[in-house]
Amino acid sequence: MINIYIHIHKIMEGVGIEEREQSLDQVSHVALDIGGTLIKVVYFSSSSNFSSDHKNIGSSADGIDAFSGKLNYRLSGRLHFLKFETSKICECVQFISSKLLRHYGDLDVENQANYKTKIKATGGGTFKFSELFKDELDIILDMVDEMSSLVAGANFLLKAVHHEAFTYMDGQKVYVQIDQEDLYPYLLVNIGSGVSMIKVESDSKFERVSGTSVGGGTFWGLGKLLTKCKSFDELIELSHRGNNRVIDMLVGDIYGGMDYSKIGLTSTAIASSFGKAISKKKELEDYRAEDVARSLLRMISNNIGQIAYLNALRFGLKRIFFGGFFIRGHAYTMDTISVAVHYWSKGEAKALFLCHEGFLGALGSFLSYKGNGFVEVTHGSTEQNSSSQNNLVCTGDGIESSADDCVKHYGCIECKLEKRTENLRFLSKGY
Ligand code: ADP
Repeated sequence: MINIYIHIHKIMEGVGIEEREQSLDQVSHVALDIGGTLIKVVYFSSSSNFSSDHKNIGSSADGIDAFSGKLNYRLSGRLHFLKFETSKICECVQFISSKLLRHYGDLDVENQANYKTKIKATGGGTFKFSELFKDELDIILDMVDEMSSLVAGANFLLKAVHHEAFTYMDGQKVYVQIDQEDLYPYLLVNIGSGVSMIKVESDSKFERVSGTSVGGGTFWGLGKLLTKCKSFDELIELSHRGNNRVIDMLVGDIYGGMDYSKIGLTSTAIASSFGKAISKKKELEDYRAEDVARSLLRMISNNIGQIAYLNALRFGLKRIFFGGFFIRGHAYTMDTISVAVHYWSKGEAKALFLCHEGFLGALGSFLSYKGNGFVEVTHGSTEQNSSSQNNLVCTGDGIESSADDCVKHYGCIECKLEKRTENLRFLSKGY
């Protein structure tokens, strides 16, 4: 059980390398989500700034329950979020080895003879790379189910973090405060390499009701082939400068510039994504890479928004939360998804996005530490320092990159973690 008391204060990793080195010195509890494209890492670190705090232990004045377990320590610190490319897993292994290999994960106390470190990990890569972690780091990957992790991560964020969920339409970002009593049911759409759609009815009741193979991997893969872009960020950047109307066949292209108003289609609605590319006069080289990237992003985002809505309709769900690293806080992606949901639902359903969108699985995996062990998630009121409201708006490839080129940091959440003889509690609290 993990005990969360919420006055969460989200902060950017606006700290210098020196300070980060200090915090990394005291890393504990690392969790991984090893996906088809990216490895997401969540870990807790305490630092000299957020040092061990033994005051008020057991008091309820600061929102902490009295409890019976024997307290070993309480650490103030931060939850960190970072990612690596799965194809460069060695960088992740190296990072863990050089920076984090102190005391993290659960010790395999059942097997004292071997006394190996276990870290929680989810995602398909957990199966694929378990031997690598064993050989390189002598670490056992303690596998956590992928869907359970996604749902646990989403539920945690929606309940514990004040400025986590938001709507995004016409360039307007509006935070939505979720009533914890009214969270369920909802549809969770995780857009990773592929897309999973999960109907979530409670903390423990959920079902993967749909999905599509046309997801983030399709955008990045097809985009790379068509534009010769070298990175996802380059492709996204290109798409921002493009015009999809050059390649997409619009209703107006078919109807001589007219709307098809009888069925509610404006002349600018896309009738056929990439439809104009059938032209015999033009080859790929005749199109600007920007326009190709834009059409592709629009096609995929639209399609996911539409399928998501159809599944929400299927189960009578009004709220759809979108997660996964594909979104990355990119305005055009979110806008397209929102418009698709709005359009097909005639305004009945809403697309909501999450600040920590890409880390649902890793966070869920982190929350599953037990042996040592986290216990219960309880929730209190939430308060956030207004100056930090936008800190986790994930707009670029990381809010800050570290000295290592391969490591991208995605901000962090200030929190407290308690360790007891039997249990480890995780407390989030603002200051
Ligand atoms: P998975 O767990 O399948 O790896 P993710 O949630 O990590 O899925 O999302 C992977 C997708 O995120 C990619 O297919 C791509 O569309 C997008 N993406 C965002 N940033 C990057 C990046 N820096 N490198 C590669 N893909 C990225």
